This record gives sequence, C-alpha cells and structure tokens, in this order.
Amino acid sequence: MGKVRHILKMLLLLLAAAGAGAGLTLWALHALGADTDGMSRLGRGVLKAGGNEWKIAATEHFTGYAPSAELVELLLRKAEHASREVEIALDIPPLTNHAHCFLITDSNLWKTVRQRGGWRTDGRALQYGNEFVLFIPDAETEMEDSIPHEIVHFRLRQVYANREPLALEEGLASYLGWEITLEWHLGGGKIITRVQPRLPGETLWSLNELVSAQAYDQNADRNRAFYRQSEEWVRGIVSLIGPESLGEFVRLVFDGEMTWDRALREKWGLSDLQMDKLSAIAESGK
Ligand SMILES: [Zn+2]
Repeated sequence: MGKVRHILKMLLLLLAAAGAGAGLTLWALHALGADTDGMSRLGRGVLKAGGNEWKIAATEHFTGYAPSAELVELLLRKAEHASREVEIALDIPPLTNHAHCFLITDSNLWKTVRQRGGWRTDGRALQYGNEFVLFIPDAETEMEDSIPHEIVHFRLRQVYANREPLALEEGLASYLGWEITLEWHLGGGKIITRVQPRLPGETLWSLNELVSAQAYDQNADRNRAFYRQSEEWVRGIVSLIGPESLGEFVRLVFDGEMTWDRALREKWGLSDLQMDKLSAIAESGK
C-alpha cells in the first residue's frame, strides 16, 4: 500500500445472485491494491496487516475483504441480506454510504489487528466509521450470526447518533442478528439451532443494572450474561408490543424522546403486570 495511490479497476461480472435475494450483483475487484481513499486508520491498518492475502469484491453497498473468494461472496451476500432485513425490521432508510467489511479467520491476524486497538469492540468485531472487521474462526458455528449481528450495529450507528441504553443496542444486534440468520437458512430449507449453556446465577444482571450499563463488563461471564439477557429483554419487548412496533420503539428511545419504560407504558399502554413480566424475562437469564 504505502502512499502509492492505487488505481482500482472494477470488472462487472459474474456471480449473479443465486438464490440470495434479487438484484444482488457481486463485483470482482481486480486491483493493484485496494482503494484506500477515504479509509480510516482502522481499514488501512487491517488491509496492511493482511498483506496480499485479501480477496476483494464489492456489491452495491459493501466492499468485502476475506481470505478466499468463497468467503468474500458469503460475507457480501449475508451483509446485503442483513442490511435489507434490518431496514424492514426497524423501518429505517436504505443504506447510502458504502461500507468496507473485513472478515478475518486467522487468530494471529485478528490479534495483530486488535493490538493496534483503541477501537470499539464487542469482542468479536471492530467497527469504526464505515468500516468493520469481523473475526470468525474457521468452522466456528457458534458465530454463525456474527455478520448480521454486526450489520445491525452498523445500521443503527448510521441512523442514530445516540444509542442508549447499551443493552438496547446490544439486545437488538443479538436478537435481530439471530432472527435474520434463521431466515437466511429457512430460505434454503434448513433449520438451525444454537446451544446456549445455562448462565450461572451469580453472573446475572438485574434489569436495572442491565439498562444502566454504559460499557461492556470486563468479566467474561458477566459479559456473556449481559449479551444473553439483553437479547431476551428485547425479545420480550417484541412479544409485548409486536414486531411491527419495534422500529417505532427504537426510534423513540434512541432519539431521546422517551425512556424505554415510559414508551412501553404510555405509547403501548403496558400494565404493571406486563412490565413485571418483562423484568422476569430479562432477569431469568434463560
Ligand atoms: Zn454486538
């Protein structure tokens, strides 16, 4: 890379959308190197750390970087699919910025990238501006929903400057990330499941703690509980107000118009009993 300005040649071709949604065209990028114009220190650093190993391709909204052509294709198909699904689920406008997504499968490369650090991370990805970096170790089925999960974060960041409480953002990423993954596989006639070990009681958060958290917990077990409980809390909200109201709820809370509990009580008329039920769902950590 260096300071040399690389010329990007895009060849429109190939890989017409095969079953992964209409209108998705992958562009294979034949370039002397990637186009780093407008990239942040994160993107440039990751590109450099991966050296000549990156395979690069692009779709309408994303440029993908991965260690093999197959993975770039999967990454881009999932990213475009998830982005559309998030728009529908949260009633947000279509993506206007072009994003760069890097998929790392090599743990040493991930370590190198993380050590340059200072980037926001929820443990399995780094995001900055229009760039995000995902670490999915080979054959890691547990992280099946990583791409849609990060796309939810990415799309929320595009639309809402303030995304508090953190449990709502993380809960949405986990809840929608998983629902989108289920849809993705159902489209291919496949049903997937995930194994969720029971959370030890001492790691559980009260709902009050959950919605007050402003940062990820340094303790891995507590953090695992934070993710799971945030997801169940959001799933509980959806069950009470209906999926068609989720976008409106998120807008009210992230735009700061109403606190989450006031929105549920006043806008959707939830009773004390229903609010207690929601607490019980979030706090059970099941
Ligand atoms: Zn997350």
